[in-house]
Amino acid sequence: MKLSDPRLFRQYAYIGGKWTHGDEGREEAVINPANGEVIGHIPLLEPEQIRASVDVADEAFAQWRALRADERCERLLAWYDLLQAHREDLATIMTLEQGKPMPDARGEVEYGASFVRWFAEEGKRTYGETIPSHIPNAALGTIKEPVGIALLITPWNFPLAMITRKAAAAMAAGCPVIVKPANETPFSALALAELAERAGIPAGIFNVVLGDAAQVSSLLCAEDRVKAVSFTGSTRVGRLLLEQSAPTVKRVSMELGGNAPFIIGPDMDPKEAALAAVAAKFQTAGQDCLAANRILVHESIHDAFIEHFTERMAALTVGNGMESEVDLGPLIHRRAVENARATVDDALSKGATLVAGDQSQAPGENFFMPVLLTGVTQDMQVWRQECFAPVAGVTAYRDDDEVIALANDTEYGLAAYVYTHDIRRIWKLLRALEFGMVSVNSVKMTGPPVPFGGVKQSGLGREGGATGIDEYLETKYYCLGAL
Ligand code: NAD
Repeated sequence: MKLSDPRLFRQYAYIGGKWTHGDEGREEAVINPANGEVIGHIPLLEPEQIRASVDVADEAFAQWRALRADERCERLLAWYDLLQAHREDLATIMTLEQGKPMPDARGEVEYGASFVRWFAEEGKRTYGETIPSHIPNAALGTIKEPVGIALLITPWNFPLAMITRKAAAAMAAGCPVIVKPANETPFSALALAELAERAGIPAGIFNVVLGDAAQVSSLLCAEDRVKAVSFTGSTRVGRLLLEQSAPTVKRVSMELGGNAPFIIGPDMDPKEAALAAVAAKFQTAGQDCLAANRILVHESIHDAFIEHFTERMAALTVGNGMESEVDLGPLIHRRAVENARATVDDALSKGATLVAGDQSQAPGENFFMPVLLTGVTQDMQVWRQECFAPVAGVTAYRDDDEVIALANDTEYGLAAYVYTHDIRRIWKLLRALEFGMVSVNSVKMTGPPVPFGGVKQSGLGREGGATGIDEYLETKYYCLGAL
């Protein structure tokens, strides 16, 4: 791997400020999904080593929470500066392990760093309150205190930003974190650890454990001293973690799957809508919890929309993310390609039409060419499940009431898109859609100032915004009597 700072590429776990091998020497190879080459190896830690991460985090906690908020802020801002300064190396590491095109990887480094800056400042505003007393001669109020050690389990599709969005909030609140990144993309997490150390974040505050995912989570969830679990990933694993967190009654925050509807009103210019839908569907090669999974187009503009969508889709370049001018990189592994194929076959067997998507053009075995399906119905997997592949499914609808029912016909409730300029329709849909986030006439919706999260089986809690830090804070009520 060619980096201007080779020390950012670490092949160890990072616990208590020490770079750590597995005690038994067990390792796992990390593969570049674009070409199948081994990028490096990570250690698989033994149970005692995994538990030891709680000891070091616990030791570091007292000192970190005792710092003034502005002192923690300074360390986090130093981390932010280092992320910015090493953006190119961080993007290179990300593209090699995840596959996304370099411009997208650079964008993710910026995005991930922006959460560090945001929460560095938010840490200075964890205000308690003064409560008018109903008890004679008493003063009442609240203080915000760090919840304690936070276990952060993150996915491979955004290997850096999903960590910083959690870790910066937790650390600004005064909590130590134990990060368990996806085994597919560990090197971004380890580069973050290297830069955290350089930023003066004390040993034991930012830890990265590596190992068998199910083992790491069951061991750490069983620890009473781990007070919070924040997870981003599939709903299936989210449910498991909720079960594992129950015996010790942990604080849980779950950012789970999505199945976003992309609703296009009859008043829209079909070309404008098609450009937006292509962007919302194919970002991160469709491996995005915000991807426009179900495109719902008013029947009056359906055919024109399909024409523009097909034209725009044909202009997308699929290839190795390290090459310039690539729009879509590979899928994360072979299994994801097989799932995508099965999803398309299922739709075709149930009556959908394949408008575009010739897999013989795929530049390698982990690649999947963008697919457009029309005539998608509610019984198809492409409708019911989160697709996580560049497969766009389109359904025509007649009126607003029908499209609301269609959009809400999912167990997921993360994000929805609405494209229309009719203010009455906007308001009606905004209120009726059962999703945690609704974006009107904009593909871009996320960023540090906004509360990111879902309803229904898309999750619990919110990340970012003015409330994101609350996931890592307890409210302590006090009553000072006999004054
Ligand atoms: P995943 O659930 O398979 O894995 C996520 C993390 O959980 C990884 O670190 C993985 O190693 C770990 N894990 C896997 N099996 C586990 C187990 N049995 N016990 C404990 N941990 C386990 O998800 P993924 O495939 O990495 O990521 C894709 C999913 O993440 C999609 O469903 C996507 O929608 C979701 N996602 C959600 C958001 C959001 O903010 N809501 C953002 C990005 C991705």
